[in-house]
Amino acid sequence: MPAAAYPEFRLGSVLATSFTGTLSERHGHPVERIPVPQRLVDWLVVSGLAVDSCTAEQLGLAKELREAVHAAATAAASGEPLPADAVRVINERSAQGRAVAVLTSEGEREWRLSSPSSVEDALGVIAADAIGIIAGERDGRLALCASPTCRAAFFDTSRSRTRRWCEMNTCGNREKKARYLANRRADADHRKDSG
Ligand SMILES: [Zn+2]
Repeated sequence: MPAAAYPEFRLGSVLATSFTGTLSERHGHPVERIPVPQRLVDWLVVSGLAVDSCTAEQLGLAKELREAVHAAATAAASGEPLPADAVRVINERSAQGRAVAVLTSEGEREWRLSSPSSVEDALGVIAADAIGIIAGERDGRLALCASPTCRAAFFDTSRSRTRRWCEMNTCGNREKKARYLANRRADADHRKDSG
């Protein structure tokens, strides 16, 4: 199937939570954005971790890591103890990655994988990114999306640290619209009562 036939990616600026966002609406009607190995290839390419192929087994490792990051980030955002299984998976993926950071002549960081087919190296970078966020090594706050059907863990780097939604364009707007419609209904009821 062409890429357009699959659900679009929701790309955030933080690698680890952008990755957990490849499964969205976890508490509503879940949308799987990497349903086949090729879609993981596509996601890694747009996320700066270009690989040229992916096996079904590698996709399995990726999804296992994704759910581990989601579980650990959710626990961290809620102030709960980290699930041991999730910690183990994140550490395994981190330990098995052999990507190296290189500095480009333009002064940017790039990840160099040990081979173009090493999805494991790419997953190692994602796992390390998750460790940095969950361990509180980065400037920001882990939080859960206020949308009841989403509850995605996201990393709030806003100055006020009061961001409520994983993404303004989707969850934020939906919530605003729901509130607007509820207010309008309340106004209409009010008019009926007073009229
Ligand atoms: Zn959300």
